Amino acid sequence: MAPNPLLTPLGQLPGVGDDRARQLQRLELHTVGDLLLHRPRRYEDRRRFQPIAALQLDQSALVCGKIIASGLHRLRGGRSVFELILDDGSGRLHCRWWNLPFMEKYFKSGEEVVVFGKPTSLRPRTLDHPETEIIQRMETSVHLNRIAPIYPLTDGLPQRWLRSLVWRALQQFESAIAEPRPELRLAGQPMDVQGASVPAPARAQAVRMLHFPEEQADEEIARHRLALDEFIEMQIAIQTRRRNLEKNARALPCAGDNRLIKPFLAALGFNLTPAQTQVLRVIRHDLAGPTPMRRLLQGDVGSGKTVVAACAALMALESGTSAALMAPTEILAEQHGHNFRRWFEPLGIAVEVRAGGREQLSLAPLGAATLRFFIGTHALLEETFTPEKLGLVIIDEQHKFGVAQREQLVRKGAYPHLLVMTATPIPRTLGLTLYGDLDISVIDQSPPGRGRIKTFLREATSLPRVWSFIARELAKGRQAYVVYARLEAEDSAAGVKAVTKEFHHLEKIFDPARIALLHGRLPSREKEEIMSGFAANRVQVLLATSVVEVGLDVPNATVMVVENAEQFGLAQLHQLRGRVGRGAGDAFCILISAGKTEEARRRLKVMEETCDGFRIAEADLQSRGPGELLGRQQSGAPPLRFGDLTRDGALVERARDLVRGQTGPGSGS
Ligand code: ADP
Ligand code: MG
Repeated sequence: MAPNPLLTPLGQLPGVGDDRARQLQRLELHTVGDLLLHRPRRYEDRRRFQPIAALQLDQSALVCGKIIASGLHRLRGGRSVFELILDDGSGRLHCRWWNLPFMEKYFKSGEEVVVFGKPTSLRPRTLDHPETEIIQRMETSVHLNRIAPIYPLTDGLPQRWLRSLVWRALQQFESAIAEPRPELRLAGQPMDVQGASVPAPARAQAVRMLHFPEEQADEEIARHRLALDEFIEMQIAIQTRRRNLEKNARALPCAGDNRLIKPFLAALGFNLTPAQTQVLRVIRHDLAGPTPMRRLLQGDVGSGKTVVAACAALMALESGTSAALMAPTEILAEQHGHNFRRWFEPLGIAVEVRAGGREQLSLAPLGAATLRFFIGTHALLEETFTPEKLGLVIIDEQHKFGVAQREQLVRKGAYPHLLVMTATPIPRTLGLTLYGDLDISVIDQSPPGRGRIKTFLREATSLPRVWSFIARELAKGRQAYVVYARLEAEDSAAGVKAVTKEFHHLEKIFDPARIALLHGRLPSREKEEIMSGFAANRVQVLLATSVVEVGLDVPNATVMVVENAEQFGLAQLHQLRGRVGRGAGDAFCILISAGKTEEARRRLKVMEETCDGFRIAEADLQSRGPGELLGRQQSGAPPLRFGDLTRDGALVERARDLVRGQTGPGSGS
């Protein structure tokens, strides 16, 4: 097979010497293929220059003029200013660059120059540090009278030189840009771009449009096609992983025989909700099958995922395999340890907790025949953890882990079944990319008898009233959380408080109630003591950092106060709010924020308006981008150059359907 011309090293192109090649490498541009996907950071419409006489203060403008004078002025203290004066027939423009004396070498009187910038003064008309290019007559077809790409650069690499290089590379290599998946026949298919239906360009054509669009609309059409190609590759990777699993992996049958679940449910003290029962039916079906289960269980905070996990674990244990549960924090692992010991030890199951680098063995006997259930944090990923006959792996609060960690835990056994749980509702777009290889179940119903959670947005001036409100709740026997964005280093300039500073202040305010301080850096034993103290109502007010964000379950707590709420993502606030409202009475979430900007206030307003985790996640995605929700998820996935998960939902779905259409049904449901 002939080598792919797009893999030609840039150093082999005419006009690219060692120095230039090194500069290009600094931009991660190694081959012709890399260069052709170097995305312009913006475009300049050079079909229309602005007359110098029409420039407006502080409004970006593109001007083309002839150099009529230039000079370098030395200032005191070794400083200098280089100045050019341009004339375009309508008027004169001063361009100034400070402390860049070498600029003098680049310009000669009489040359035509294009400059782009915002006027800082109109008398005389002045641009400070504009972007600039000298136009040489022979190259006008590349640089002028068109929409010109402006690329990200690196030290010493001129814009004009790079643009010429891209131009020449396109002339030479455009025909080598093949359709990556010709079987999908994308070119010519209708594509929805900014509300208009346009035929998708071939990839080669899209690459040309990316660099040298003929119309402004071409920029977005090109981005669309190139983003679609990225999403298609992503979906192929996801769906291939899934198919390989189905083809090669054989799971241990783990559906159980009810002998443990029956007494467990009888002792539980409540009935499962229909939603929980339905999910368990699906899980049992998965566990009985020969293909390892790969299931995401999504259920809003408080929907009761832990009990579902316990039942799934019992199915595996009944089948004679061991099972493991991984939680993102030590505090949560300890809480699970506490619950599962209470639930499982009467059934003769040994519960082992591995958190914070120490091992805590169950009181139940560890004979050879004993059923074993492991609970831990990342400690479960360590090499020393080698459970025998691992049938089921459960990951709680999956969004706190990466895909790589998920895979690492699954590799502990010979294809154990996998159940991942998350309370963070994943907007559909992200779900298709992050969890595309998982089947998804949703618990869409809360356990009965829950009170409402009322949410209030308040400014710091209301704090005294908030504290007396808490005091009244405490008098009724209730408990409260107060969460801070910072542990120690407060940021007084930005008004961000630190929990350690506030502790003594609140201790006095809530006297005689007991308050305690919880954060991730405490020694494990102390964390455990504080948590169990709060759970048993020996502590009434828990001051904490966002370590309490996930999983904690203390139904008697009815107030959640978040100071500097603007410092948190909405999804995170929703998680925090989920710590209350777990009992029968009404609960309260009070978000304290200075709300300096209108934007910040609007964002937090969403919390007052809805308790629907799904709407909140969508709002978060819009306002903060996917980073927050992705967490460490994306590790492993290729970076997106053109695709944008916050905007390209429709493209992701299209890619998924296209790839599915090719590989046939059966890859997920
Ligand atoms: P999450 O889905 O947020 O992990 P949990 O599993 O912590 O929720 O459950 C929240 C609370 O609801 C726990 O106290 C749990 O015991 C309780 N719970 C779970 N299922 C039911 C049910 N079917 N009926 C009543 N209470 C339930
Ligand atoms: Mg939970």
